[in-house]
Amino acid sequence: MQRRSFLRNTGLTIASLALLNKESLAAFLNDPTWNIKMLTDDIGIFTEKGGTIAFYLSKEGAVVVDAQFPDTAPHLIDELKKKSEKPFHLLINTHHHGDHTAGNIAFKDLVPHVLAHANSKTNQQNVAVKQKTEDKQLYPDLTYTDTWCEKAGKEEICLYYYGAGHTDGDSIVHFKKADIVHMGDLVFNRRHPYIDKSAGASIDNWIKLLDKTTSTFSKKTQYICGHAGDGYDIQLKTDDLKAFRDYLGNVLKFTDGEIKAGKTKEEILKATEIPGSPEWKGSGIERPLTAAYTELTGK
Ligand SMILES: [Zn+2]
Ligand SMILES: [Zn+2]
Repeated sequence: MQRRSFLRNTGLTIASLALLNKESLAAFLNDPTWNIKMLTDDIGIFTEKGGTIAFYLSKEGAVVVDAQFPDTAPHLIDELKKKSEKPFHLLINTHHHGDHTAGNIAFKDLVPHVLAHANSKTNQQNVAVKQKTEDKQLYPDLTYTDTWCEKAGKEEICLYYYGAGHTDGDSIVHFKKADIVHMGDLVFNRRHPYIDKSAGASIDNWIKLLDKTTSTFSKKTQYICGHAGDGYDIQLKTDDLKAFRDYLGNVLKFTDGEIKAGKTKEEILKATEIPGSPEWKGSGIERPLTAAYTELTGK
């Protein structure tokens, strides 16, 4: 439990902490900044900073989906070492963004393979060359283009590529037996998304991709996403994916209407809400509007 939620859940004030016995006070002060939640006996999620990490503790070793940052990935690595003495089996990247791959480097010499979509690897390399951070990268050594599946322990893990969305290299990662899907950044739950046009993102195909996802998987499938708005969960149901699909549709529809009404890009970016999707609040509305403007006008 994190410190803040500890205080909230127990109703403790700072003053009342002084009344705690030595053991509880020590436990409180050592409370980590990260959070691990098990979804099944052997599949869990790790959250601290950046995109949600999923992990599966198989008898062949741990499979990890995404790696956050170089300063947070070691926290996950230490926690997994406590849970299992097996070596790491595979690291998967849902896409190339730094809040999902910068921590890859912490797995160097620990994991035999890093897997991602071929475009994700290219994007990671392009960004690292541009930012001169190549020495800080651990690139995928395994790539795929359409579908990739492998048995690990009692699970079968499949990666699916449904075309461009958040970038042009996003994988949908399915733990088939548990029926848990990591969507990476293909869903921003009630939070304005980053839409990476510099890496081939497409709002139009993102909508189709989400339709394909909800029709491919079952109503009982549990989803995980990279990011959620304040007070919203990173664990999702089918209806949350549909709400995000509708949000993307509303972004395009709103921007298109504004362009047709003769508004300039600057005027459009002044919007404070996407009509039809009031749950998407907070900062960052200019990001989807800018991407939609580019997609609709080519500018
Ligand atoms: Zn992210
Ligand atoms: Zn991302």
